Amino acid sequence: MRIDIVSVIPEILKGPFSNSIIKRAINKKIIEIYLHDLRKYGLGKRKKVDDYPYGGGSGMVIRIEPVYRCFHKLFSERNYDEKIFMTPDGNIFSQKYAYEFSCKKNIIILCGRYKGIDQRIRENLISKEISIGPYVLSGGELAAAVVVEAVTRLLPGVLNNPDSMITDTFQIGSIPPPPLYTRPLIYKGLSVPRILLSGHHQKIKDWFYKKSILKKKI
Ligand code: SAM
Repeated sequence: MRIDIVSVIPEILKGPFSNSIIKRAINKKIIEIYLHDLRKYGLGKRKKVDDYPYGGGSGMVIRIEPVYRCFHKLFSERNYDEKIFMTPDGNIFSQKYAYEFSCKKNIIILCGRYKGIDQRIRENLISKEISIGPYVLSGGELAAAVVVEAVTRLLPGVLNNPDSMITDTFQIGSIPPPPLYTRPLIYKGLSVPRILLSGHHQKIKDWFYKKSILKKKI
């Protein structure tokens, strides 16, 4: 899978993508992530990417030309299955979207900044508008990182133990995961439920199931 991310400050994304699971997925060549600096496609000597809004109002708006140039350069190189714009007023990102995107071959993610982007970009260059939640960030980069992380861990070969993914919260048809315990057996008087030490596999399975179902009710 290939993901191209277009941003005014792509440096923000270098940290999230150079550690842990995403780094491993890149090294294993399961995913390719390319960061594109929108300013490279900006106007004039100063590589301007934003301007004042028509009709007045506060904040600057990302202009269409830099985005159009960047996108069309990418379009000339390959087909994209999805062109996503990160925006607080988009469809709320969920595990269902993570699955949907993980089945695509090539995706572009556009990160907004300032007051937002020219509506003509949204109407003509974008196929999906995605929000990571009902709150406002200063830019789409961290939101894009959330989407990339959720998608990457679903790709075959990324997790060492794919069973772990199947039992995660929000897996289609799954119940929430049961409580987890590890060593030590007792810490400052807090102990692990005895049943988990019984060695009785069926009883342990039933206990996990009961605990998961209880969580679901809450
Ligand atoms: N004026 C916009 C509004 O009220 O919807 C907010 C713009 S915000 C300051 C700048 C950029 O951050 C947005 O264009 C978007 O790309 C990104 N962003 C902010 N919150 C987000 C969220 N919850 N989900 C996805 N992207 C978000």
